[in-house]
Amino acid sequence: MKHLFTVFLFVVLCTSCQEKQMEVNLVEKGISYELAKYRKLQVADVKYQLAFDIPKSKAAAIPSKLTLSATIKDLTNNLILDFNEQKSNIKSVVVNTKEITVHHENEHLVISKKHLKKGNNNVEISFDAGEMSLNRNEEFLYTLLVPDRASTLFPCFDQPDIKAKYTLTITAPKDWKVLCGAFEKTRIAKGDFIEHKFNETDKMSTYLFSFVAGKFSEEVRNPGAFDMRLLYRENNEEKIEESMGQIFNIHQKSIEYLEEYTAYKFPFQKMDFATIPPFQYGGMEHVGAIQYRESSLFLDKNATQSRKLGRAKLIAHETSHMWFGDLVTMKWFNDVWMKEVFANFMADKIMNPVFPEVNHGLQFAMAHYPSAYSEDRTLGTNAIRQHLGNLKNAGSLYGRIIYNKAPIMMRQLEYILGEEAFKKGMQDYVKTYANGNADWNELVAILDDKSPKDIQKWSEVWVNKSGRPLISDAIEYENGKISSFKIKQEAEDGSDNLWTQSFKIGFVYETEVKVFNVTLSDKESDFADAIGLGKPINIIYNYNGFGYGVFPVDKNTVQFYSSLKDDVARGYAYINLYENFLNYNSGSLEVYYHFLEAIQKEKNELITNYLSGRIQNIFWGFLSEEQRNKISVSNDIDIFGLLEKDISPNLKRTLFGLYRSIAISDIGKERLYQIWTKKKKIKNLYISEDDFAGLAVQLAIYKHPKASGILTEQLTRISNPDRLKRFKWMLPSLSNKASERDVFMNGLLKKENREKESWVQGALSNIHHPLRQKEGIKHFKACLDILEEIQVTGDIFFPKRWLSSSVGRYSSKEAFGVLKGFLKENPNYNPILKMKLLQTTDNLRRAQKIKK
Ligand SMILES: [Zn+2]
Repeated sequence: MKHLFTVFLFVVLCTSCQEKQMEVNLVEKGISYELAKYRKLQVADVKYQLAFDIPKSKAAAIPSKLTLSATIKDLTNNLILDFNEQKSNIKSVVVNTKEITVHHENEHLVISKKHLKKGNNNVEISFDAGEMSLNRNEEFLYTLLVPDRASTLFPCFDQPDIKAKYTLTITAPKDWKVLCGAFEKTRIAKGDFIEHKFNETDKMSTYLFSFVAGKFSEEVRNPGAFDMRLLYRENNEEKIEESMGQIFNIHQKSIEYLEEYTAYKFPFQKMDFATIPPFQYGGMEHVGAIQYRESSLFLDKNATQSRKLGRAKLIAHETSHMWFGDLVTMKWFNDVWMKEVFANFMADKIMNPVFPEVNHGLQFAMAHYPSAYSEDRTLGTNAIRQHLGNLKNAGSLYGRIIYNKAPIMMRQLEYILGEEAFKKGMQDYVKTYANGNADWNELVAILDDKSPKDIQKWSEVWVNKSGRPLISDAIEYENGKISSFKIKQEAEDGSDNLWTQSFKIGFVYETEVKVFNVTLSDKESDFADAIGLGKPINIIYNYNGFGYGVFPVDKNTVQFYSSLKDDVARGYAYINLYENFLNYNSGSLEVYYHFLEAIQKEKNELITNYLSGRIQNIFWGFLSEEQRNKISVSNDIDIFGLLEKDISPNLKRTLFGLYRSIAISDIGKERLYQIWTKKKKIKNLYISEDDFAGLAVQLAIYKHPKASGILTEQLTRISNPDRLKRFKWMLPSLSNKASERDVFMNGLLKKENREKESWVQGALSNIHHPLRQKEGIKHFKACLDILEEIQVTGDIFFPKRWLSSSVGRYSSKEAFGVLKGFLKENPNYNPILKMKLLQTTDNLRRAQKIKK
């Protein structure tokens, strides 16, 4: 009996300890994947009734009330709501009509299961709204709750796959307007305030819930689909006149296209929008109430085509989200890239034909490839689809792979399926998962059905794996004609991955270019179309900027690139040349001169811009000091020569930027000085106040004999008070005394001196400029040691920026040694930070071999 009893007790203890264990895991800070998974099973039919009383004073708290109703299906665990605020913000909690004391732990409100029942439950919470994501200004406020910020405002289930309906009441000063996801039902005056009651919204994820309230002007128009309402603060008559019609019409045009493409009617009760002057992003796709940065939508009459295209694409992007993101939502934020890629993909389809004078192919290539490669070629790269254990780390997913490799992947995917089958697949996807959630694998399953090809297998490499292929060829000739043409691929990272993909190859002859499409689906493919062709002057891979990887380069024909007439082919040829250079296929001086020659012939702005960037990279990152000094003299002739020619002002701006960043010869310094003193003018080149400040910085770093006088005078030339503050703050980083820079650098290791992160970045770049690395190197290790702290105290993008403007600027053997030592000393280093470190020091690693 005793024995039995012991066993019994043991079992009981063990079960309860497991339960305890489980709960401890669930209430960790942030929203863990485990919590999200469990809650998705636990609750359904969620509705939030929310009331916010907005006072006149920005400083006063916002008394709020939540009535949450939900069906509870499982009571193994307590009910855990997310509320990332002080416990003291909670005033009272009533569960199923009974007031209870609630437990607040690790950003969660835990409601004991003893107060709950299976079936429908009601929770009433009185609280002060959290203000972290409320963006309160004197005259207006707006919510921005993506990705996990809804829980900083009110208690909720803050995960994308618990969609809910919201009924909102907002009491605001009587001269304020209020916009949210549903129509206004009643408006009741209450003294100096008005109580706005709204209808129930459509179903949406918490990150898409929003409201805007404040002093706004208002415009209601019906551009075709339905009435749309715009709240705005712009007061420039000219901008309003130019933009108002456009804003409504572009929304309308987007809706029409998307309804046709998705075969799904506009999915929500309305689509209004607000433009907000200091908005953080270009736009945010809140259901029923999109928010935009005001300056992105209101343009003046002289706005360039490219700004107008930018506006059109932004509106088309946010409108596309109504279907891709809002109607069908990712299950978890590891698939956040999907909605972004779809929105851009659709925006291109909708708006590119409206701007036929823009070379969209070139713009796509120059915007995405260099950026995607800059991470994917490194040892710190990641797959498009990554693991996300806790929503609080969602910020670490964002990077160049998501923004730049994913769009390249998506074009390939559409090509593989064919446009029609892809469109049908998207229609199925929207219809199947409307008002619900789907992950990438569920889309792949649908697409797999539409194609004889193995899309699952394709996606396994393109989406779930990082890296890119190295492509090579083997060509044989017989009697002057191609008799065999094989194209091979192998993964750069040494894995077995193969990237099935299509792209074009151009065979350049004296009088024509023959262009063929080729599909690589294996390790080695026969390129049959080429058989029988005569020997070309040049073979240009990825002629259409569609494929992905490092393609073969024939070193003897590089000088002909500049004569390629097709802008995309020429632009991509230069990209490919640079990637080959980084893979040790050419010497740095040789490639430097290729690019220098190319930029002298180039007329296209986008390509000139790219070439300018590469010239600077090679100059500072891959040439020895001796080489730099030697070629700086010819730079004075070549690049400055261009500036004196009659070329377009935009090209001139780019070339001026290039010149001043490498003009280290005595002649160069003197010229920069003459320009800075305004004694020397360059025809057709506008030099702004910022440019003058930049020149002063460069003259200081280049050790111009009058450097300190230049900096002092520059202070008197800056009219904008914010920029003046920044310049003053940064002065010690420019000092010609190493000891002063050392003190300043040590100061940056203290949190209180890193408040303005963009300033810090600028200062670091000065201190660790290649010309100052003899003195800067002693701080190299400290910049690494502080990285974990930087992550905790800074913005999500700051760790990478910190690294790239400090350790990322070095190329010496000594620096590489310190880096290796650091990695060896820290074998279990934070994996996210390690990736950033490997990304930003990739050139340092390559420089060791290239410089040899
Ligand atoms: Zn977006």
